Amino acid sequence: MQIRVGHGYDVHKWGADKPLILAGVDIPHHIGLIAHSDGDVVLHAITDALLGAMALGDIGQHFPDTDSRYKGADSMLLLQEALRLATEKKFAVANLDVTVVAQAPKLASYIQPMRESIASGLNITVDAVNVKATTTEKLGFVGREEGIACHCVILMAAQDGTQK
Ligand SMILES: [Zn+2]
Repeated sequence: MQIRVGHGYDVHKWGADKPLILAGVDIPHHIGLIAHSDGDVVLHAITDALLGAMALGDIGQHFPDTDSRYKGADSMLLLQEALRLATEKKFAVANLDVTVVAQAPKLASYIQPMRESIASGLNITVDAVNVKATTTEKLGFVGREEGIACHCVILMAAQDGTQK
């Protein structure tokens, strides 16, 4: 079985008057993330990881923020388009591991809903999705609550073993 690994990293700045959406889950918070799309930093990191594993560049190349079609875009649709490209190459998601880096809000109670949302969006089992959240002990831009970051590592497996 051929496998491929990908890594994704994304950052968004706090400051928007819009809902906070992480991994497709609405999370109550007093401030939202500035972005051309819905600002879902988690789904952006996953999309970049998936594209990375497939050697398909990055999210900015596929969904440029200069393109009005992606204004306020539902990031789950962007992730699913990246998944479709992987499926075309006959690869499927084996598992992924996500680390959200945020000083606030507290995300512990949203971990399971985020896992379920990601699993549903990628059409895989929840068991294949891990989500962790950490602060930076008030250090750096995350600690000063200027922004939020997210890392993702994803493993993709060839579906038929014949992929070149
Ligand atoms: Zn982003």
